[in-house]
Amino acid sequence: MLKVSGLSKHFGDNEVLKQINLEVKRREVVAIIGPSGSGKSTLLRCLNLLETPDAGHIEIDGFEVDARRLKKSDAYALRQKSAMVFQHYNLFKNKTALQNVIEALIVTKKMNKPDAEVLGHKLLDQVGLASKASSYPAMLSGGQQQRVAIARALAVNPAVILLDEPTSALDPELVGEVLQVIRSIVDTDTTMLIVTHEMSFAREIADRVIFMADGSIIEEGDPQSLFGQPQQERTKKFLGTVF
Ligand code: ATP
Ligand code: MG
Repeated sequence: MLKVSGLSKHFGDNEVLKQINLEVKRREVVAIIGPSGSGKSTLLRCLNLLETPDAGHIEIDGFEVDARRLKKSDAYALRQKSAMVFQHYNLFKNKTALQNVIEALIVTKKMNKPDAEVLGHKLLDQVGLASKASSYPAMLSGGQQQRVAIARALAVNPAVILLDEPTSALDPELVGEVLQVIRSIVDTDTTMLIVTHEMSFAREIADRVIFMADGSIIEEGDPQSLFGQPQQERTKKFLGTVF
């Protein structure tokens, strides 16, 4: 489903991703954990070419790009295959919740408006916001805005959904509702790559957990073994600070 090989990226002298290899199977939920600055966001952003990698191959749902030979159409094609949910919700402020959710359906997928609205209402219902379709982002709580962002990501029916710390900008009392929505998506067989600092949540939902530090994947495994019996010193040290 998703395959990354030899992915490298530097910013100036800072080598942020060092030859990352990663494979995610269809319907697999993979959580990425690791200290601040380890390259987690950069990895996710490289997957849809929001950042341009220096080298490496990225394949999502049968579409492959070579970072050294990028074509203009590659970013568009990869973004058709993936949808990203950011730490800060990035909603269009001048559009209602419903308009935010259906924007890509109309503009990118060329769906007609009545059909898009039917789907949009269904998705808002799925994230528990049926009654907020006409609300503008400013009228919604952070948790509600993030749920709109998740509905928007689901709208395009992506092959893989990428979430970058979807709850880290939220007040603690709003975290639970967003995690609950993500749980419900996991149950629908979505393929998901999620960067999170919610360790117990990663443990609960992930099929596999990847620990990143200093631009490399240090260790990966099923949640039970990675959290229970980490093999690498670097992993032990990190888990020691977060638990
Ligand atoms: P966090 O947990 O704090 O979100 P992260 O693991 O997501 O951290 P990244 O945001 O991927 O880390 O950043 C990795 C490194 O790359 C950091 O040293 C960061 O300062 C650097 N970096 C990220 N984006 C840029 C940029 N646009 N320009 C220069 N340096 C950058
Ligand atoms: Mg980050």
